[in-house]
Amino acid sequence: MKTWLPHPHNRPKLLIVDDQLTNIRVLHELFREDCDVFMATSGEQAITVCQTQLPDLILLDVVMDGVDGHEVCRRLKAAPATQDIPIIFITAKQQDTDEVLGLELGAVDFISKPINPVVVKARVRTHLTLKLQYDLLRSIALVDGLTGVANRRKFDEDISADWRQCFREQKPLSLIMADVDFFKRYNDRYGHQAGDDCLSSVAQALSKTVRRPYDLVARYGGEEFACILPKTDHSGAVEIAEKMQKHVRALGIEHSASDIDRVVTISLGVATMTPTGDLEFKVLIEAADKQLYKAKKTGRARVCSVAMSST
Ligand code: GH3
Ligand code: MG
Ligand code: MG
Repeated sequence: MKTWLPHPHNRPKLLIVDDQLTNIRVLHELFREDCDVFMATSGEQAITVCQTQLPDLILLDVVMDGVDGHEVCRRLKAAPATQDIPIIFITAKQQDTDEVLGLELGAVDFISKPINPVVVKARVRTHLTLKLQYDLLRSIALVDGLTGVANRRKFDEDISADWRQCFREQKPLSLIMADVDFFKRYNDRYGHQAGDDCLSSVAQALSKTVRRPYDLVARYGGEEFACILPKTDHSGAVEIAEKMQKHVRALGIEHSASDIDRVVTISLGVATMTPTGDLEFKVLIEAADKQLYKAKKTGRARVCSVAMSST
């Protein structure tokens, strides 16, 4: 295993899950040179490692006490953050029904015990290569070319997944919509190229303001950005929006055509709600949009916000 396309400099992360330490040792020995190997000796531990490390591939024992391999697979596939991690089941069971169940649960492959090192290595290599290529294509498809933040497609994917997740957990979901003030005049005064640079800088300032791994800053369209904050209550979201406003102002990008300030500013709308089963995420977008409109109407360079229903 010499080259791991398409990220030859990033070592792939491999998670080995087995309740027998001797089995883990054999597999660890096979892969430690080429991969960052993580190990778990129970289903519960495997799920925790997945959430914190996001491995590129999992070798998963089926038969374990407590949470077994099939259940681990079920849970990982049900969570947006872990559903794309490919899983190869390793099992001593050799019945077709087990294989069928595993594949139905979303596993990419099967390896039977006792393992043949050459076979395991070849299959792991194949699936890691596919995973890394998938990651690369996906990242290209989901990034906005101009600003480097997530694009509208990624936003649409995430808002829908986060809405469902926050509904299941009955946690608040916050959304910030931000729009550059008097940006048409900026383009007219400084030129379109300077406008593009300005949008890039604004996007970076917004990105730096959010810190949690599941927060997302995306270019919503034109000179408008959106920020999804899962499991964030209203006051937390307003605090972040205020910081965004401050950080963009602090960039100090000259804007002599603005009525507000000598530098580029943004207006922001914030909406928070705990999702309910009978509503769609669209209501959250509409509410944040309405607050953004209010911020524009009441003087720009400010945050307007609404906490909806139960939050
Ligand atoms: P407001 O404060 O009310 O938001 O005024 P505004 O001028 O920012 O809003 P308006 O919607 O009238 O104009 C938005 C401008 O953003 C017009 C459009 O040319 C510019 N714009 C949109 N996308 C891009 C882009 O990718 N690059 C550049 N340079 N300009 C863009
Ligand atoms: Mg604008
Ligand atoms: Mg606009």
